[in-house]
Parts: sequence; structure tokens; C-alpha cells
Amino acid sequence: MPELSDLDIKYLPGVGPKRAELLARELGIRSYRDLLYYFPYKYIDRSKTYRISEINGSMPYIQLRGRIISYTTQGEGARRRLIATFSDGTGTIDLVWFKGIRYVTERYKTGVDYTLFGKPTLFNGRYNIAHPEIDLVDDIIDKNIGLQGYYTTTERMKSAFVNSKTLHKMIYSLWNSIHGPLEETLTPEVIERARLMGINEALCYIHFPRTIDDMRRAQFRLKFEELFYLQLHILRYARMRTRNIGGFRFARIGEYFNRFYSEILPFSLTDDQKQVLRDIRADVGSGRQMNRLLQGDVGSGKTIVALMTALMAIDNGYQACIMAPTEILAAQHYESISEMLMPLGLRVELLTGSRRKREREPILAGLASGDVRILIGTHALLEEGVVFNNLGMVVIDEQHRFGVAQRAKLWSKNTIPPHVLVMTATPIPRTLAMTVYGDLDVSVIKQLPPGRKPIQTLLQYDNKRAQLNASLRRQLQMGRQVYIVYPLIEESEKSDMKSLLEGFETVKKTFPEYTVSMVHGKMKPVEKEEQMQRFVRNEAQIMVATTVIEVGVNVPNATVMVIENAERFGLAQLHQLRGRVGRGGEQSYCILMSRYDLAQDTRKRLEIMAETNDGFIIAEADMRLRGPGDMEGTQQSGIAFELHIANLAQDGQILQLARDVAQEVLEKDELLELPRNYTLRKELNRNYGKKVNWGQIS
Ligand code: ADP
Ligand code: MG
Repeated sequence: MPELSDLDIKYLPGVGPKRAELLARELGIRSYRDLLYYFPYKYIDRSKTYRISEINGSMPYIQLRGRIISYTTQGEGARRRLIATFSDGTGTIDLVWFKGIRYVTERYKTGVDYTLFGKPTLFNGRYNIAHPEIDLVDDIIDKNIGLQGYYTTTERMKSAFVNSKTLHKMIYSLWNSIHGPLEETLTPEVIERARLMGINEALCYIHFPRTIDDMRRAQFRLKFEELFYLQLHILRYARMRTRNIGGFRFARIGEYFNRFYSEILPFSLTDDQKQVLRDIRADVGSGRQMNRLLQGDVGSGKTIVALMTALMAIDNGYQACIMAPTEILAAQHYESISEMLMPLGLRVELLTGSRRKREREPILAGLASGDVRILIGTHALLEEGVVFNNLGMVVIDEQHRFGVAQRAKLWSKNTIPPHVLVMTATPIPRTLAMTVYGDLDVSVIKQLPPGRKPIQTLLQYDNKRAQLNASLRRQLQMGRQVYIVYPLIEESEKSDMKSLLEGFETVKKTFPEYTVSMVHGKMKPVEKEEQMQRFVRNEAQIMVATTVIEVGVNVPNATVMVIENAERFGLAQLHQLRGRVGRGGEQSYCILMSRYDLAQDTRKRLEIMAETNDGFIIAEADMRLRGPGDMEGTQQSGIAFELHIANLAQDGQILQLARDVAQEVLEKDELLELPRNYTLRKELNRNYGKKVNWGQIS
């Protein structure tokens, strides 16, 4: 038997070249193996066929078999509906359609045997099933089946008559054409350790389970396997890196660090900040390269940690750079950091894309000579012309905007890769962190600096604008500043821009006694900067903006954040925006303005915001509501989200087990060289061998 991955799907009976092309284009299925690994997204219990006479008040989705006896329509216009009388000899039930009446009557004939699925409900004393799923009775499949798997198909496939049932049949015929068992894809140790089904059973039951228990166990095995190889890949990479790559050893805490700590630092550090610095200190003293992720909610005080980390490098004779995702944020870091370091006489420079050649040259020269000790900037730091004398520490702020590949680019800035501290204010659910950042060590700042009052978040509907304006005026009269944020989503950019500009005009008219700034992404950087600075200096009291202010901007006197059309933002983004206020000692507010008629999910999202300020709770909720693939940072990561069957939002426990087992395997055989781990090496290669490999970066 050749490898299933070498068998072209077009040779499978019932497929042929046309369907093969369709499967390849729509689902990426090219080989027998691809099809076998295309799993159902849901199952319906078909092991039991009910009789109509058995139907009672509380039934879930059930299966019936019988014939349509007649069709009638009732009602007029929008209320018109089609009703079919369906009989199985024990009684009759009404089938009801509110849409697609013509299609239904043409497609489903009277007097033909059908299997039908649906949920019966009682209406006017009679049971009916609205929009049932109807299939021709198919004896081959129907007789053998327990649970029926449902497969995702696309519109294109459906119009070419390849639906879930067609796929199911193809897989059925594929499964029956395989002679002899498939090769096991995990080792006996792993199978035993995690108490898994064998691969043959699992593949059979994932498609053709007899019972729910079969299905669950098959899913468990396949999810485990997927997560196991992912973790094995990440962990092996991380171990090889620490094994192969040395790092600069920062032997001492020196004068700059100590002077900063005792003479300059304007507050005492929180316990969490101290702990993070201890973690970092241990890393950089170890002789291995540091790769640490620092998670801390907005306002938790990460900047000071970044700065003090940079000082550790400087004390040991190295340069440091701090990279931010936007020009505004880079500029803000530059200002606060260069001001704080002034007494130490260290040269700090700012390098962003908008810097002119004339301004760049002296900076680049200073970098090359080692005179510039800290370089702060944006992506511009990654450019080839930026050459350091001796870069020892890289701090990446707001990591979720930087991909793994970009992280890697920075390493090439020195012959020995510098230490890397990645900071993010987007709390990442643990399961996600174990995958996206699975190769990093993690520190967390949970505490906010003392004296902060929790931000109060209120939901308000658009029709309460007068009330909103009154409370804004009260805050302004107390000398506070206000942000008003509008969505600007690319797809509806024009109308969004219009509502932003209109909003700006309205705000100016409503508050003539105050000055209003505006920033949005379409402005020139200088202009943006100027508007921003007016707000920072309190020359403007109101800032109308798009999400460009989302990241990092720090104006402690701003106490109100109004978010217009809040329903259009994701949770993580709302949380980021909210973090722009509550940075001083005053009570701050976040007001989420929205339409009244919200979809349930959307309302839920906004309610979560009102209920909690805890970024981790919000992140977990966000992942549950949206699924991990949409989480910020996951697209760029390039891994993990091609998960076929596992779901990071739901399979946290399986993930943990998979990670533990992978760790155990590597403890005993770091390079997977032992003969008994041959299978693991082979599968790892199959899964991750060809992809862009950050394993090669080192
Ligand atoms: P973020 O983690 O969002 O980057 P910042 O580093 O911008 O937070 O810190 C937010 C504010 O808190 C800044 O004004 C900073 O000076 C202040 N801050 C940081 N640490 C402390 C502390 N230990 N005590 C008091 N204020 C602090
Ligand atoms: Mg910050």
C-alpha cells in the first residue's frame, strides 16, 4: 500500500478530475490522506429513528423516516409559509418553511422515502418541524450508521452537488478501500501515557462513530495528537535555541541601574515589577539568550521595566533598543525615557520612518560608534542600514503587532543574538500563550500601581446623547480631558471617515468653550503628532480620534473615554482603548455608546466590558466568543491556527497534557534521536518540516 498522502484524490471512485479540482480549490484536499483528515464539524445521532407517534413535548433534534403526503401554503406576503404533511404510518407531523418555497416543492417529491432531521415544536396543538433537513433514504450509509458526521462545504461545492453527504460517502469509500491498518503516528509510550485510542480506531470513529463515546475518544486522540506535535515543535525549538545559542552574560548590576533606582525613579516599584526585574536579571546573568514575554495590563507600568532592563545592558557595556508599534508611541517613549535619563548623561535617540535622511545620519553614526546607548523607534529599526556597535538587549513593546519573523530579524543585529524582552498589554489566554508564545518564558504583572481607582464602564444607547454631553461637560469643568473614539474599519472606510469628521464638527459645536483635537490614520505623521501633542499638553481638552490612539498613549489627566459605535469593536480592542484612561489618581470613566438593537453576542461583549476590568477575563471571553483564529497576534504568528480539530478556546486541558507529554519526551531525548522516537521525528517533519521555520533562524 503506497502512502495515502501520495495518492491523488482524483483516483478515488466517485471523485474524478473535476471534483478533485473542486476539492483542492475549496478545501485544499488533494490526496487520500487529506480527505481522511478532513473531519466532521458536528454529529447528529442517527442510531435511533423515532416514530411520529412517539413524539412528545421535550425532544432535541430527532430523526424520522417517511413520506411527504401533501403540500399546502398558508398566510400572505411576508407571512406566507409552506406546510407539508409528513407521515410514517404511525402518525403525521407538519413540516414548515418560511423561505425557499419553490425550491422545496421542486426538490422534495411526495411519495418518496426520506430521512428527516429536525426539532419538533408544539404549535396550536400540533407538532411541527420548521426547516427540517431532508435526505433521500440511503440504505448503504443509513444501515451502518450511529452518529452522522457533518462536513463543512462551500457554496461552490454545493452548487456542484458536493455536499456534506457526498463527502461522507467519499470518505466511506476511501476507508473501505484501505487494506490493512495504517501506520501508527504516535509512539506506544505516548499512546499509553495519554491513554489514547490507536490511529486506526480514531480515524474510523471520527468519521463513523457508533456512539457518542466513540466519537469523544476519537476526537480526544486526534486533538491530542495535533496539539502534541505543535508543542513538540515549539518546545524542541526553544530547547535547541537555548542549547545552541549562547547569550551575553550581564555579570553585574552597575552604576546606571543603581543610580536610576535610588536617585531618579519617581515612585517605588510594585512587587510585580520587582519580580519581573528579578526574572530578567536571572535570565541575562545565565549566559543564555533571554526570550521573555512580559504580560501586563494597560497601565501596569511596563515602560519602567523596559527602561531598567535597558540599563542592565548599558551597565555591562552593551546598547539597547526599544521598539514600539507606532510613531506616536515611540515618540512618547522617547520623550519620557530621555527625560528620565537626562541626569545620567546617556545618549538616547529616536528613529522612525518619518525621520529625514539628514536627521538619520548622525543617529546612525552614533549607533555604529556606540555613542548612542538606547535607540527607540518603530519598524524602522529593522532596516538594513541600522547597524549597532554592540546590541545586547531588545525590548519589543506591544508585541502583538510584531510577527515571529520580525522578532527574528532583530537577532541578526549582532553576531550573538541580543536578549529579547517582549511586552504586551493584550492579555493572552494561557492556552494561546502556550502556543503563540510557547517558546518564550513568561512573566506577568498583575498589580496596578497603587492609588488607581478602577475605571467605571457604562453602556449607553445613542438616544441618551444629551445626558452624555452633560456628564462630559461636568468632567471638563473639573479640568479633566476627554477622548472620543470612532471606529474606522477598512471595509467601510468612507462612511466611517464621514462620521468621524461629522462627530468632530458636532463636538466642536457642543463644547465651544473647549479646544478639540483630532487624529486619524490618514493624517500625515507630523500633523498627527501635533494634534496629539496639543492634547498631551492640555491645550486641547477633547480628543476625537480613531483607534490610532489605542496603543500606549499616556495622558493621566484624561479621565473619560467615550467609544462611539462600541458594538463594532472587538473585546480586546475595547479593553485597550479603555486603558487610555484611569492612568492618574482621579476616578475615570469609559462610556460605550451603541445602538439599541444589538445582536445577543454583541450585547454580551459590551456587558463583559462593563462587568470587569481584568484583562485576562476579557481575553478568555474574547477567545470564546470569537475563536482563537481571530485573536490579535495569531495571524502573524504563522503557527497554531491551522489547527484542524483542536480548539484552543475549548481544549485547554488537552493542550496542557500534550505539552506535558511533549516535555517529558524531550527530557529524555532532546534531539529525538533514539530509535523508539523515530515516529515522532517523522511526524514532526511531516507537520512542520516544510513550513517557514523559525527553527532555522538560529
Ligand atoms: P503600560 O504597562 O500600559 O505600558 P506605563 O508603563 O505607561 O504602563 O505606566 C502607566 C503609568 O503608571 C505611567 O505614568 C507610569 O509612570 C506609572 N507607573 C508605573 N509604575 C508605577 C509605580 N510602581 N508606581 C506608581 N506609578 C507607576
Ligand atoms: Mg506601554
